[in-house]
Amino acid sequence: RHPAQRAESKVALGSENIYILTDQAFVTLATDDVYCQGALVLGQSLRNHTTSRKLAVLITPEVSSGMRSVLRSVFDEVTEVDALDSADSVRLALLQRPELGVTFTKLHCWTLTHYSKCVFMDADTLVLCNVDELFDREEFSAAPDSGWPDCFNSGVFVFRPSLKTYNLLLQFAAEHGSFDGGDQGLLNSFFSNWATADIGKHLPFIYNLSSSAVYTYVPAFHHFGRDTKVVHFLGATKPWNYKYNLQTKRVMQDGTTSGSFHQLSFLALWWNIYSASILPLLEKFQKMEESE
Ligand code: UDP
Ligand code: MN
Repeated sequence: RHPAQRAESKVALGSENIYILTDQAFVTLATDDVYCQGALVLGQSLRNHTTSRKLAVLITPEVSSGMRSVLRSVFDEVTEVDALDSADSVRLALLQRPELGVTFTKLHCWTLTHYSKCVFMDADTLVLCNVDELFDREEFSAAPDSGWPDCFNSGVFVFRPSLKTYNLLLQFAAEHGSFDGGDQGLLNSFFSNWATADIGKHLPFIYNLSSSAVYTYVPAFHHFGRDTKVVHFLGATKPWNYKYNLQTKRVMQDGTTSGSFHQLSFLALWWNIYSASILPLLEKFQKMEESE
């Protein structure tokens, strides 16, 4: 669509009016109620920093109806996608590869064609400030992966919804699979010139700072870390797996978590949002369900 025809709607926010660009959205994914907790905190963090874009979440049938209600109070759009619905020939090929299931679900973001441009963010990310400038970037923009910097990390990326791209991705997945078994391997093979073709498509690392990478290059974190815009809690232990003391507002560490100071302060930020904004919503809807 031509930029001049961009759909805009004015919404009242306190005493100010801000313009919402209705043809662009932040998109996340949650395939179960557990990941929904992450999606909700991410969505709330984008709201807290007054994004001028829509918020969309993709879910699968597993997500409970109560959780869907809560999602609807934070996100503008809650879209159910089926783990395996797609172009039929590709679907058959993919059925032979059950390991690609979750990967495949993320690819559904390309079907949101009522948006002209989107920023995908993993449910385990958190924004620390307004990051709407990401929409100035083109498909396919992403930040380097801290484990192998010639690959991008697929936790934050800029893309243009397109059924053509979606079908090409499915076809590619069926033919080549994914070298890491997940969406990141697949997307890196598909957008294979990312490392070399256009530096404008390299998002700065501060747009996808993996909290665990902080301690692999401490001086760099001390130098640049204050500018962090997006934290990504990648890895097996997610913020919602920690225990949090609501009274002291501290994340509790058990023997297995080698929490560094910065990691803990990012976790505390996540938990602040969860306890202040998300828990009350979850409790409200739980009460409503009980009284039904
Ligand atoms: N995801 C999901 N359910 C799952 C696994 C993953 O909804 O069971 C989604 C969620 O948005 C998540 C993203 O896929 O953030 C990528 O997975 P994850 O963040 O766990 O991988 P990591 O970033 O740790 O490699
Ligand atoms: Mn992640």
